[in-house]
Amino acid sequence: MSSLPSSPLEVAVPPVGADGQRTVLGEGPVWVVRDQVLLWVDIKGQKLHVHDPSRQSNVQFALSHLPGCVAPRAQGGAVVALSNGFGVVDYSTGAVQWWVDPEHDKPENRFNDGACDPKGRFFAGTLQLEERDPHCGALYCLEQDHSVRKVLDHCTIPNGIVWSLDGAKLYFIDTPTRGVDVFDYDVESGAMTNRTTVIKVPEELGHPDGMTIDAEGMLWVAHWGGGCVTRWDPRQGSMISKVVVPVSKVTSCAFGGKDLEHLYISTASVDTDTIAEPLAGALFILKTPGVRGRPEPEFAG
Ligand code: CA
Repeated sequence: MSSLPSSPLEVAVPPVGADGQRTVLGEGPVWVVRDQVLLWVDIKGQKLHVHDPSRQSNVQFALSHLPGCVAPRAQGGAVVALSNGFGVVDYSTGAVQWWVDPEHDKPENRFNDGACDPKGRFFAGTLQLEERDPHCGALYCLEQDHSVRKVLDHCTIPNGIVWSLDGAKLYFIDTPTRGVDVFDYDVESGAMTNRTTVIKVPEELGHPDGMTIDAEGMLWVAHWGGGCVTRWDPRQGSMISKVVVPVSKVTSCAFGGKDLEHLYISTASVDTDTIAEPLAGALFILKTPGVRGRPEPEFAG
């Protein structure tokens, strides 16, 4: 394993914004190729962030419900999973239009991480707000016609979800398992089968949280409580490299930039001593991860 200690990790968005509020649970960065902006959320701060590196700006929109994740939408705007269900958000205004709530009978749950499959279906998982009891969440698929299927039950903290470059594999993290699981994936039907564990994260690296994939098919995993992002070969289950982040709670990562040549890394400040970790809650950028990303699939509905 090689580590990248000399890699120039920079702060892209400082932890305290113009409103003087520190990002509580910065999460879910995703690059929108069409607009060349990075969308990310502050789940517990209940905000959508739009970072435009060309203008060096980061605009925040307060939302009426807790956002779990967003993904670009082919028709414009972004599909969003909020604590009250799926909808679309206009990220130039912050206006949300709700579509459907598959867990309207479970007010104790909220949506968490999610992403689109290669056909433009949107997947997102739910967890218990208080994270008290295990197995209370599920993974849902929002189809292009806005109907919803439950695709996996008994999830505890569903997080990183990403498809292999050919779409034939789905990689998924349920954080307390400390592993990355893989399913065989049928892109035409959206069926996921044959779950196995491909990566086991060592205890000293904390818990796996968000995840993305690069143009070589390798996985990049953010480590909650581990202060790093790691790159893995999912075929071998082996770690290739590690990027140290000066914040213990590293939540997710996403490639961005004109050629998807940078890696953005989100962090959290919740339950953190911000004297000891002054950058907790910042969005970081690794300008030279040494590999490019691939464009994030857009929601097709
Ligand atoms: Ca997460």
